[in-house]
Amino acid sequence: MAEQERTHVQTDETATTEVTAEVDVVVVGLGVGGEETANRLAAAGLSVVGIERDLVGGECPFWGCVPSKIMIRAANALAEARRVDQLAGQARVEPDFSIVAKRIREEATAGWTDDAGVERFTSRGGRFVRGSGRLVGPGLVRVGDETFRARVGVVLGTGTTPVIPPVPGLAGTPYWTNREAMELSELPGSVVILGGGAIGAEVAQVLARFGVRIGMVEAGERILAQEEPESSERVAAALRADGVTVHTGARAERVEHDGSGFTVHLTDGDQLRGERLLVATGRRAVLDTLGLETVGLDPTARFVATDDRMRAGDGIWAVGDLTGHGAFTHVAMYQAGIAIDDILRRAGVLGDTAGEGPRADYRALPRVTFTDPEVGAVGLTERQARDRGLNVRTAFTPLSESSRGWIHQVGDEGFIKLVADADRGVLVGATSAGPVGGEVLSALAVAVHAEVPVTTLARMIYAYPTFHRAIETAVRELLQ
Ligand SMILES: Cc1cc2nc3c(=O)[nH]c(=O)nc-3n(C[C@H](O)[C@H](O)[C@H](O)COP(=O)(O)OP(=O)(O)OC[C@H]3O[C@@H](n4cnc5c(N)ncnc54)[C@H](O)[C@@H]3O)c2cc1C
Repeated sequence: MAEQERTHVQTDETATTEVTAEVDVVVVGLGVGGEETANRLAAAGLSVVGIERDLVGGECPFWGCVPSKIMIRAANALAEARRVDQLAGQARVEPDFSIVAKRIREEATAGWTDDAGVERFTSRGGRFVRGSGRLVGPGLVRVGDETFRARVGVVLGTGTTPVIPPVPGLAGTPYWTNREAMELSELPGSVVILGGGAIGAEVAQVLARFGVRIGMVEAGERILAQEEPESSERVAAALRADGVTVHTGARAERVEHDGSGFTVHLTDGDQLRGERLLVATGRRAVLDTLGLETVGLDPTARFVATDDRMRAGDGIWAVGDLTGHGAFTHVAMYQAGIAIDDILRRAGVLGDTAGEGPRADYRALPRVTFTDPEVGAVGLTERQARDRGLNVRTAFTPLSESSRGWIHQVGDEGFIKLVADADRGVLVGATSAGPVGGEVLSALAVAVHAEVPVTTLARMIYAYPTFHRAIETAVRELLQ
């Protein structure tokens, strides 16, 4: 549907604002969720303006999932080579991070440029604008000195940014966030990492396996606090085995920076020294610059609240990290699919024959921490299930006791943990930690999503000798 050119409207900001163009949809933020939404709406024939202030594609391809997993692939290869001695003879390992840095720079990010992403959008008929977009009234988005009016609606997909804790001495120092860590071309000798979440743990293990001395500080009692305690224990043990010093239950009280690096003073009296300091203490949605108040939404909220069709209000949708359903690319993509369907219906592109549209359902939200052991988890943890008052039954089986775990031998750390609602006889959560924990997770995700009765899981055939066969052992334990 065609763009219409210049009209004038009243906005909260100025007496009148010249509307540059009227289009069907304006998407603010072309990260994972926004790019998917903008591309697919444009491909469906809607006129779409896509606004991105940084790189089209967002955090995941440039500073998140993709570069970190390239690093992990390489670090795991080093770890496997070091296991040869116990399995197959001798291997000499000489890590060379420049190969990883080159692959990230040249193959994954094209030197942190987004020509390909812009082309993906504009080749579908989208109009791309580089800049920071902001709502200035219902259906109105300002970017630079242009204002667009959206006939069907506005989609927000502005993601999150790193939380920088107010530790005295930290502000103004050249600390790293995930961005500097993913843009690394040379490795320092030592790094202190603040934060024991998934990002901190993944980066710590990679760097340690490349020979960097790592000190990690986690204020909570355990790392990977969102996951089962058994996951935290196994990953902490693996990090320590890789040479990482893991401090839990201690906060950074003060940071000093001098010519040779950082000193982090901890509340338990310890001090950590590192040439570099990585801050990985969580991420937050920045809502106060989006003009949410001009459409009746709360700019002081932590996240943009949406209904199950990703609607944040009339003619306004939100997708991705800023909705607060976990910071995962697969959630952003899932939500984008739902918003796209709803927008196409609103635009009259999908007729009545399209049936009932998809609704967001986060019961079976999967998540993977790509450490070694890899921790895949879905749905509720045991604690969450108990807090909801469910009649909880759990089962736990170590991978090393399965045939495949025993065969695998070195590097077989891991387990299957099941969390069942005994009243309904279904799984409400599960964790699979191990060499391919994220892959084994898929069976468990289906079980939680489709509410497959535990008795049905007990009667199916599990291939021998696979890691996923440990699910059967755990299921049997549940039924005892
Ligand atoms: C180190 C790291 C590793 C990760 N690994 C994984 C993983 O393995 N698996 C996984 O599922 N997830 C992973 N994630 C999380 C994943 O990257 C995010 O969940 C995902 O990028 C969220 O997509 P999004 O669309 O919500 O936001 P983003 O990808 O953050 O994109 C938001 C975009 O909006 C733009 N923007 C913001 N404000 C404005 C504005 N006002 N105007 C215009 N543009 C604006 C930003 O520049 C950005 O490009 C990782 C993250 C990090 C940091």
